[in-house]
Parts: sequence; C-alpha cells; structure tokens
Amino acid sequence: MTVLFHFPLLGEPLSLDLVNTCVRRDGVDLDLLDTPQGLATWLRAESARLAWSGAVSAADLAAVRALRAAVAALMTARRDGGQPPPAALRQLNAALSASTAATGLTWTAEGPQLGAPTMTAATRRVSLLHTLAVDAVAVLTGPSGPLLRECAHPDCVLQFIATNPRRLWCSAASCGNRARVARHYLRQRIDQ
Ligand SMILES: [Zn+2]
Repeated sequence: MTVLFHFPLLGEPLSLDLVNTCVRRDGVDLDLLDTPQGLATWLRAESARLAWSGAVSAADLAAVRALRAAVAALMTARRDGGQPPPAALRQLNAALSASTAATGLTWTAEGPQLGAPTMTAATRRVSLLHTLAVDAVAVLTGPSGPLLRECAHPDCVLQFIATNPRRLWCSAASCGNRARVARHYLRQRIDQ
C-alpha cells in the first residue's frame, strides 16, 4: 500500500504512469522520481509490465526523466491538439530507434537456441527507454489518444485515459471527493 500511496495513479498505460510520477499536492509540484531509489521503487511497482533487475544508477534516472519530459510534452500536445516541441519528438524517436537486444540467438553444442543476451547496464537502460517510448506511441496514435485527459481538479496534474467519457477525476476517492467537499463548504457559506 505504501507504493500505491507513493505513486497515486498506477495502472494507466505505462507511459502515462511515467508522466504521472510528477504530481501536485497542495499547490506544490513534486517529482516522485527525484532519486535513483525513487525510480527503483517505481520500477518495482511496474514489475508486471517492465522487466528490470539490479540497481538503478544516476544515469538511469537522468535518462528516464529526460524521456518522461518528452513524453509529457507529447501528451500535452495530443490533448491540446497542437504541435509538440521538436526536441520532444527527437527524444522519443531516439529511444525508439535504439537497438534493444531484448533477446538473442545463442549456439551451444546442442544447436541454436533463443536466449537472453548478457545485458550490460547500458543495454538494460536502452531497453527500458524503448519499452516506454513504444507505449507512448501506442497511446498517442491509438484509440486511447482522443481519450487522454487531465484530472479536473485544479490542484492535480494526473492524466488518464477516459474510457468512461464521464470520468472527470484521476480518482473519485481523492480528487472527486475533494471537489465534493469544496462544493459543500461553498454552498454552506452561500446559505449563511
Ligand atoms: Zn486528480
């Protein structure tokens, strides 16, 4: 539960979960991936969809944060119907075009076999960025694209895919409830 509290909206497409590691609480923008440990915790929380083993380095963190900034800019352009900054597009395409070497052919005495190549720290990072970038492209170009939405609460920047078109909040239990409480207090003040 600690993880769920820490990362408020897991379970959207991976690339959106990544963007949603930048949150706003009480008017303050917070980056939940502010340390390698923070990224390691997020990778563990996403372990059903992201293969990662071993420690997270400062270089891993910097690369993931750079891709996240690019994906966030692209998602914003998709929501607003505008053009994204060219640098964001370049960054995403760089992650897409990198060779990932997720599997490889090995040849033993028994013959050819599919096997995992030895992953260096660099290829592991490239592979992670590639997976996240592929997911971002799927969101941007697929049926989810027009459903991309930001939470309606002014003190929240989380994004989600509104498969239910009436969905306004990242979470009815948190932002939806906060808005209801605020409306209630406003009504009481007007009635007095
Ligand atoms: Zn929200």
